[in-house]
Amino acid sequence: MNKTEELQKLKEKMEMDEGLPLKKGTTNLVFGVGNPDTKILFIGEGPGYWEDQKAEPFVGNAGKLLDSLLQLIKLPREEVYITNVVHHRPPENRDPFPTEISAYGEYLDEIIKIIDPKVIVTLGRFSMGKFLPTSRISAVHGKTFVVQFNSKQLTVVPMYHPAAALRAGEVMRQIREDFLKLPEVLKEATKPEIKQMELV
Ligand code: URA
Repeated sequence: MNKTEELQKLKEKMEMDEGLPLKKGTTNLVFGVGNPDTKILFIGEGPGYWEDQKAEPFVGNAGKLLDSLLQLIKLPREEVYITNVVHHRPPENRDPFPTEISAYGEYLDEIIKIIDPKVIVTLGRFSMGKFLPTSRISAVHGKTFVVQFNSKQLTVVPMYHPAAALRAGEVMRQIREDFLKLPEVLKEATKPEIKQMELV
């Protein structure tokens, strides 16, 4: 099975899972979108109204900003993969509860394992919390962290949520600055490993 097929199978499993706590009252499962062979995965918080309607992450105002931030670094949206920590819209767009995040977490882990990215950009404090549970976003945004996931090393870059940038000019300035660092982070994280040469 290739990655597209694996993701499709996982999506179907999720659609059948009646135990998912936020499913009731939603229109669609918002699984994820993009290139499964990408080296860079973006993880947001959860779907809003438009995402629920269109079954695609980041298609509302925050999504438009995400698209322009990707354009800023000449990284087409179609080349990356985008998903969320919860895959159904929380009622009234409230924050997801920890129990909800952990219910969807096993699926998110599977998505990460299938895509197997080199870099994960977390958008907002809920996805940051998956990898850096004790960090404060104001202190760590735009920095790179190497974490172990699924017995592999992964570079995590926490960033502010685009919706927060739409609310505050200073956050907008910082998120743009953080995005501008991404091409270099990606280059470093995808460097071929230097093989130890054996001296004869
Ligand atoms: N905000 C998110 O965190 N995710 C989306 O998909 C849309 C808005």
